[in-house]
Order: sequence, then structure tokens, then C-alpha cells
Amino acid sequence: MAYAPFNLQGKVALVTGGNRGIGLGMAEALAQAGADVVIWGTSESHNRAAEARLSQTGVRVLAQRVDVSDEAAVVAAMAEAAVAMGRIDTVIANAGIGAGARSFSEMTIETWRRNMAVNLEGAFFTCREACKHMVERAKSGDPGGSIAVTASLAAVDGAARNEAYAATKGGVISMMKAIAVEHARYGVRANAILPGWIATDMTAGSQESKVFNEKVIARVPIRRWGEPEDFGGIAVYLASDASKYHSGDSFLIDGGYAIF
Ligand code: NDP
Repeated sequence: MAYAPFNLQGKVALVTGGNRGIGLGMAEALAQAGADVVIWGTSESHNRAAEARLSQTGVRVLAQRVDVSDEAAVVAAMAEAAVAMGRIDTVIANAGIGAGARSFSEMTIETWRRNMAVNLEGAFFTCREACKHMVERAKSGDPGGSIAVTASLAAVDGAARNEAYAATKGGVISMMKAIAVEHARYGVRANAILPGWIATDMTAGSQESKVFNEKVIARVPIRRWGEPEDFGGIAVYLASDASKYHSGDSFLIDGGYAIF
């Protein structure tokens, strides 16, 4: 018999950047656990492909074309999703880009601002609108909700040539802790997920690099690249009532890389 709290039937989970990569890995697991899912991305073709894949699980799926760096678009999409799906129980602010430079000395303000706009401001808009919805629901007598941000190993490890990216990921962890304290009274929890080296489009160049595989991936104790499906378990746990007393935490999922 399955552990009952992991059954997400009746819950709605929204994953930004849920149309591919880590976000799709999380959305698939959430759907398989019974949650209705909402996914956000900027690409219509990625959205349609993911929607078709997720729909095979039999849950309700809503794919919305949203650029998370666009405040008005996030406000409108969150409201539309809440009406279309009836409620939103879990929001995972996962959409992100990785823009670095050849060296910190050469990093431009455009690179810095692009990272900030998508990874930090995007997570801010997403989490703020999610909290607004969850607080309103709590005030009408239906408390609860789970917020998660996808940060990165780069938030805690020195990510050379990626100072802007690293700053956004440290920033979302700090924001998450503040959200967790402020919203606990409404039954809303907040946590961060920190992926290590994961095989997605974002790391395509490194996956093809012999040097990177020999020098970095060989040092991962589990001895492989992480896969999007490796993030299904944490997504289901955080969306479920199994984690109802777990808030303000950071989950490092890196195959043991940081401790070796
Ligand atoms: P991918 O590049 O594979 O996917 C990125 C996802 O984000 C896509 O769904 C993309 O959809 C969406 N996205 C990008 N920009 C925007 C935007 N402006 N608005 C809305 N959606 C957007 O990346 P990963 O799956 O690897 O990354 C997911 C998260 O994990 C990111 O926050 C990343 O920083 C973090 N991470 C990844 C690691 C890795 O090794 N891969 C390591 C540590 C953290 P679309 O194309 O439709 O816009």
C-alpha cells in the first residue's frame, strides 16, 4: 500500500520552467503522484510538447506561455491559473538561465542584469503572486501551500565565471527563508532545491566536454550526471502533506559532489 501523504490527488502544482529539463522532471513526478499541473515557459513549442507528455498521466494540465521576468505577465498568468485550476497548492519557481562570462573582469552589466531579471526578479514575481493567492485562501479558511525555489550548488560553491548567476541563486535562498518565516502563520511553507551538475539543455556544452567530464563529473561520488527525473522525489515530497512541518530548508541534490 502506498504512503497516503504522497498521493497528490486534489492538489494543483505550478512549475515555472516546467516544459523541459529539471522542471519537466518535477512536473512529471507531480502528475504521476496525482497532482494537476501548470507549467510555464516562454516557448510555445516546448510548452505543447510537455503538455502532451504530461497529459498522458491522466491529470489536468495547463501550459502557459509566460516570461517570468515580465511582472505583468506573471501577475496575469498566476491569476488565470488559479481560476482555471480552482486553486494552486504548490508553486516551484524553477525557470532560470545560466549566463556567464569568460572572466569576472569581462562580465558586462547586460549579463549581470539578464541573470537578475530571469533568475531573481522572476522568482520574486512568481513567489509573490503565489503567496498572495495562498494568503487569500488562508484568510478564507483554507490555509496551506508550498513554495519552492530552484537555486543551485552555485549558491554555496564558488562558481567561477558565473558570479552573476551565483548571486541570483544565493538571493533566492535568502528570499525563500524570509518567505518561510512570514507565511508560516498561513500554513505556507517555503524551501529551496539546489541541483548539482544535471544533464539538461543548460549544461549541453559541458556534457560534450571531455575535460569537464574527466575533471568534474568524475569527482561526483555517484559518478554520473544528474538527470531531470532525479528531482521528482523532492518535488513530490515538498508538494505533499508529508512535508507539512518542513520549512526554510535547502535541499542539495548533487550526487554527493559538495562533500567530496
Ligand atoms: P533548461 O535550460 O533545461 O530549462 C530552463 C527552463 O526554464 C525551460 O523550461 C525554459 O522554458 C524556462 N525558462 C527560461 N527562461 C525563462 C523565462 N524568462 N520565463 C519563463 N521560463 C523560462 O535548464 P535546467 O532545467 O537545467 O534548469 C532549471 C533550473 O535549475 C534553473 O533555475 C537552473 O538555474 C537550475 N539549475 C540547473 C543546474 C543544471 O546543472 N542543469 C544546476 C543548478 C541549478 P522556455 O525555453 O520555454 O523558456
